[in-house]
Amino acid sequence: MSIPQKEKERIENLFEQIKSSFNQAENEKKLYDFKVKFLGKKSPLSIARKKIKDYPIEKRPAWGEFFNKIFEDLDHFYLKKQKELSQKSLDQKIEKEAMDLSLPGPYCIAGAKHPITRVIESIIKIFTPLGYSIQTGPYVESDWYNFSALNFPPFHPSRDLQDTFYIGENHVLRTHTSPVQIRTLQSQKAPLAVLAPGAVFRADSDVSHSPMFHQIEGLYVNKKVSLAELKGTLSYFLKHLFQSSKMKVRFRPSFFPFTEPSAEYDISCPFCFKGCSVCKKSTWIEIGGCGLVHPEVFRFVDWDSTKWQGFAFGLGIERLAILLFNIPDIRLFFENDIRFLNQFSSLG
Ligand SMILES: [Zn+2]
Repeated sequence: MSIPQKEKERIENLFEQIKSSFNQAENEKKLYDFKVKFLGKKSPLSIARKKIKDYPIEKRPAWGEFFNKIFEDLDHFYLKKQKELSQKSLDQKIEKEAMDLSLPGPYCIAGAKHPITRVIESIIKIFTPLGYSIQTGPYVESDWYNFSALNFPPFHPSRDLQDTFYIGENHVLRTHTSPVQIRTLQSQKAPLAVLAPGAVFRADSDVSHSPMFHQIEGLYVNKKVSLAELKGTLSYFLKHLFQSSKMKVRFRPSFFPFTEPSAEYDISCPFCFKGCSVCKKSTWIEIGGCGLVHPEVFRFVDWDSTKWQGFAFGLGIERLAILLFNIPDIRLFFENDIRFLNQFSSLG
């Protein structure tokens, strides 16, 4: 063995430095970086080994053996350290992702249907077995669908009564669901029975009015249609909705341009016998408007009013919801206050 002591010590120092660096690596990535730096082709250790070929031939085996031992030891040390770091990172991961099964789950609020949706669905459920199908129409209507075809004369004050939101000269945000009657008559053939629920818009806002609210419109057309059928249908519907077999429905004469004769209909107060605050001591509660389809409406859509008759009725959904759920202010429906809406979640 004739390795110069000085060079041997230098290499052994390098060996210790590399071991110490490996030892200081805090993770596998860092350890690998050290390996590349200290054992790679351009590292001082590799360069020193390459010089063996410049040594006298008889000295080379001893140098070779020496370097092999150094590299072998570093390899072992590296693998041992790598295993150690890998275990450490696994332990940290397990610790971080550990679940405490005794902890309560995250609090989540279950969603529930809006009371307005509930009322609309209840109404649809009553009418569907009677053969009514559901129709919808656009929120932005032309003046013709919203007024003219429903027999509102031009410049007639009844157009102003509805506090219309105009969009340009000839379009409006629909003020009622009645335009769906016209669209239905244009697209379907009699006999027909349709129900049209949806949002409507009027420039009005207070405790009992909202600029956006919901109506439901019913239309039935056949060869012979009578007021008695209209009253029977409304009576059947309202008895089921309020779950009151003794409920009475009454008609009061009224005026709507698109029905003739026209009536407003009331129900006997489902909350009292002799008058209460809901019915304002009258024992009757106003629900909506109705009537037989005006011959002029048939004429606007090219239907022969001598062959066909029909009845139509409409009502405000919020008004019904206020009665059904005893809610004091219509605006509560649209404020999205979770405390208010939560009260309906138990209804399924
Ligand atoms: Zn009452």
